[in-house]
Amino acid sequence: MANTDIKIKETLRSSELEPNFAEEITKHPGGEKLYLCYQCGSCAGGCPVGKITNSYKPRQIIRMALLGIKNEVLSSDSIWLCASCYTCQERCPQEVEIADLMLAIRNIAAKEGHAPKAFVEQATSLIENGRIPKITGLTQRRRTSLGLPELSPAPADVVKKIAAITGFEQLMEKLKEEAKK
Ligand code: SF4
Ligand code: SF4
Repeated sequence: MANTDIKIKETLRSSELEPNFAEEITKHPGGEKLYLCYQCGSCAGGCPVGKITNSYKPRQIIRMALLGIKNEVLSSDSIWLCASCYTCQERCPQEVEIADLMLAIRNIAAKEGHAPKAFVEQATSLIENGRIPKITGLTQRRRTSLGLPELSPAPADVVKKIAAITGFEQLMEKLKEEAKK
């Protein structure tokens, strides 16, 4: 990931803020409780991702979202670092659904053309092959040597159909076009 640190200007001008950003997030599933956050930091304190990198700070992302610092949040790869372990959701005294909130922010980011290349590649492989990793002959031989049964073919046609009906395939096409710019 190229840009995991969120860039924050020392001086913020009100004209650079997006006052409706927080409201927009609350309209997405998982984002509804955003306004309940009072910045206690319990989420960041227990976050296993935050323990191994300074690039991921859920409390900071939430604060920036509340302030309307939209472009910096959506264009940062930091929002994609959450591992959805739900530790923070167990601990938040305000019952903010932080893991789901990150998913809501990611959904907005993707719709606006922001997503890490690696995620788009994985999603494309899922749509085309029915699985994220391709199952090669080598994989099958290793499974056999370990006494594991051969993997049956993934239902690629079903996955592709679901991706088309839900708009996921079109979204990935859009993100691939964005990446070329
Ligand atoms: S634990 Fe909850 S209230 Fe505290 S900073 Fe995180 S989201 Fe906000
Ligand atoms: S769900 Fe995400 S933000 Fe919450 S503790 Fe796990 S990795 Fe950190």
